Amino acid sequence: MKKPLLVLILFAAASSVAAAPPAPPTVPPIHVDGMKETVKTLASDAFEGRAPGTAAELKVLAYIVKRFKQAGLKPGNHGKWLQDVPTVTLAAENRSPLTITGGRAPLSYTFGDDWVAASFRFAPHTEVKDSDLVFVGYGIVAPELGWNDYAGIDMHGKTAVILVNDPDYAQADESGPFKGRRMTYYGRWTYKFEEAARQGATAALIVHDTFPAAYGWNVIHSSWTGPQHYVATPGDNMDQTLANGWIQKPVAQTIFAAAGQDFAKLSEAAGQKGFKPVPLGLKASVSFDSTITRALSHNVIGIQPGKTRPREYVLYSAHWDHFGHCPAVNGDDICNGAVDNATGVAGLVALAEANHEAGPAPRSQLFIALTLEESGLLGSKYYAENPVYPLAKTVGGVNMDILLPGGRTRDYTQTGGDKSDLTALLRSTLTADGLVEAPEAHPERGSYYRSDHFSFAKLGVPVYSVDRGTDLVIGGKAVGEAQRQDYTSHRYHQPSDEYSPTWDWTGPLEDVALFYQLGRSLADSKAWPNWNPGDEFRAARDRSRPAK
Ligand SMILES: [Zn+2]
Repeated sequence: MKKPLLVLILFAAASSVAAAPPAPPTVPPIHVDGMKETVKTLASDAFEGRAPGTAAELKVLAYIVKRFKQAGLKPGNHGKWLQDVPTVTLAAENRSPLTITGGRAPLSYTFGDDWVAASFRFAPHTEVKDSDLVFVGYGIVAPELGWNDYAGIDMHGKTAVILVNDPDYAQADESGPFKGRRMTYYGRWTYKFEEAARQGATAALIVHDTFPAAYGWNVIHSSWTGPQHYVATPGDNMDQTLANGWIQKPVAQTIFAAAGQDFAKLSEAAGQKGFKPVPLGLKASVSFDSTITRALSHNVIGIQPGKTRPREYVLYSAHWDHFGHCPAVNGDDICNGAVDNATGVAGLVALAEANHEAGPAPRSQLFIALTLEESGLLGSKYYAENPVYPLAKTVGGVNMDILLPGGRTRDYTQTGGDKSDLTALLRSTLTADGLVEAPEAHPERGSYYRSDHFSFAKLGVPVYSVDRGTDLVIGGKAVGEAQRQDYTSHRYHQPSDEYSPTWDWTGPLEDVALFYQLGRSLADSKAWPNWNPGDEFRAARDRSRPAK
């Protein structure tokens, strides 16, 4: 136990005398014509919106492999370009109402309007019967903060009722154990279901509330009433709860009232450290059937082997998938996903080309075009859980999701804020480039947990999610914000997200140059970036890559 402490002290001493950071690497020319070609091709109607598991997937894979080869990459999966990503889709039917018994009156709630739930287990029938309801506050176990919402309770056979977000979300600033207004992973619904499963709960229900959730019930409704997608696991997810879902806040209020409890009062108590779970004295029942469909999609992996330390890896990633055919708008039913995320794939190819031109770095560099991001970050989750190269040997990297066409800006934003040693490298690089870091506009939305870099972070590998800001060199902030808003409102996830020959590429070129510097600096260095002390992902990195 003492040795790591000594190492820490030595590191601290070394860093206190460290010289100014080295100048960022010189960026080889980035080929804009190649980027245009990539986007124009992948976003053409011939690629049908790149839905995984369709005939279009084969076209996409062949095209990316061709471009990777031309960029001088080698096949990155033991001599193969593709990594199989086996998936499982569950479509539920024959749903019973959600019924609550005990307490003052039997209650019954309608699927869709009042509640939604799905099975995370790959099982044809789900039956939760007379399961004791327990209010577990925010459902958080954070040892580094001395916080345990499940203290002193055995959840086996029980159903957890959980508040959305984390205890200090209503704060205006980012102070507080859970970073105030900024959402932490403990506030995300995915975390809450994972923790309920770790506690052995039979089922878990999150209480929806629009402000702390950052979206309305309509979003819950649309994402939880259709088929649910998962990556295949050896145990068919039998370590998960029987059912996970959401209830509307007014539903929670009536349930708590039936238990003789005040929802608002208990919610308030849940915000305080030392909160203890509250058994409600009620029993929940629900059942449904699920049709299970298994399928296969693919990540494309290319590698530029390192010169002197080839068994250390820096990764670059961008998802290739999009929605395929989607509800028609003005007769157009193909969601082409030009910006989201053909531009990211174009960036990936351009970065491979630039590194080829520069020649190999000391460390190996991986280029991964990921599948199934739009279905819940599944391609990256599968890679992170089944890595071709050990995560303990994966230094860090850069993920690209949407390189918005437009002009150059003076600022860049790090989604998730300062979480790791990557921040120091970002800041020194921005300064050297004459750029500034702008704070994330909406830290409460938890955007950090909604794209592929998160799958790597969750297993301890720090990966950049850096986006161009809005302060345009030509036009300033007002125009920059209007352009971003225009994309979000009029094209994002719609058939109109199409390629246009009139796009301004100067912004995306600035992005790729910056990402080249960030990635190449990692590939040239001997550094092993870690998460900041106390960060939610620090423990995962320390587990996968123990200090020597
Ligand atoms: Zn995307």
